Amino acid sequence: MYKYLFGPVPSRRLGISLGVDLLPFKTCSLNCIYCECKATTNLTLKRREWVPLQDVLSELEHYLVHNNPPDYVTLAGSGEPLLHTGAGKILSFLRDGLKGAKKVKSAVLTNGTLLFLPEVRSELVCADLVIPSLDAATTVSFKRINRPHPALDIHRIIEGLKIFCADFEGTVWLEVFIVPGINDTEKDLLALRDAIVYISPDLVQLNTLDRPGAVANIRPATREHLEYIVDFWNLPNVEIIARANTRKVKEAYLQDVESAILATITRRPCTLEDLVQILGLHPNEINKYLDVLESEKKIRVVQQQRGFFYEARE
Ligand code: SF4
Repeated sequence: MYKYLFGPVPSRRLGISLGVDLLPFKTCSLNCIYCECKATTNLTLKRREWVPLQDVLSELEHYLVHNNPPDYVTLAGSGEPLLHTGAGKILSFLRDGLKGAKKVKSAVLTNGTLLFLPEVRSELVCADLVIPSLDAATTVSFKRINRPHPALDIHRIIEGLKIFCADFEGTVWLEVFIVPGINDTEKDLLALRDAIVYISPDLVQLNTLDRPGAVANIRPATREHLEYIVDFWNLPNVEIIARANTRKVKEAYLQDVESAILATITRRPCTLEDLVQILGLHPNEINKYLDVLESEKKIRVVQQQRGFFYEARE
């Protein structure tokens, strides 16, 4: 059992992805209203070795020597991975490969808030793919959707993303998360469009909620609304991330994990936190299976006082 690795999970963008979680739950520079990992309990800009780097490297080495290589090893998890000062060392370890293990590509899911710092940009030199997010380009909407650490400034973040994209030799997909009524007024969309043109990523991916977020009463954007935004922006490199139908990535889809989740919630409805505790799996991993079960109409989500509960359909 690994402490810092999770999955591999079937990812709609990355194929089979082995996750690396570098933060204690839930440490982040943002507290996004849509966060599937729930509310940030440690809102911080402090960069440090949040978990022991050597232990993470040892787990990775063990995994890669003893298992089939995933399509990507992805720095992601319970918060913002670039808050960890060892991210660059992990990425160079993956780039250089190791004896007895096949080389594997690396991806970083980051909220992009620290890329204005040159030392953070240089951590990413060895990454193959970086997926930063940008959900708002005005101060008001940034605060509303991302609920940032008070010292963060959206204009500085956009500048950091611009410099990063200009210098980085790998691929950058900029993710924009749309929450209707929160960051999708005409003013918001125009500001986002200007920022995207300025940052100039390789690709823009429009995303919306799949799972309940950190706050109640937010809803996903419809496919039609996302298509409207693509047309409104009229930019060449924007795609909508389709809702997962992830069972087709069979190698990483474990029937026994699905059965364990179903058996648990058939006995009694559970929140994501309950499932994490009962099954001992990472929330991101459980979310992938919930995604498939929900799209196959085997489970439903019910809002109660203690949060969102998953229950089995008859
Ligand atoms: S969605 Fe990402 S950036 Fe936002 S609070 Fe969650 S972990 Fe942090």
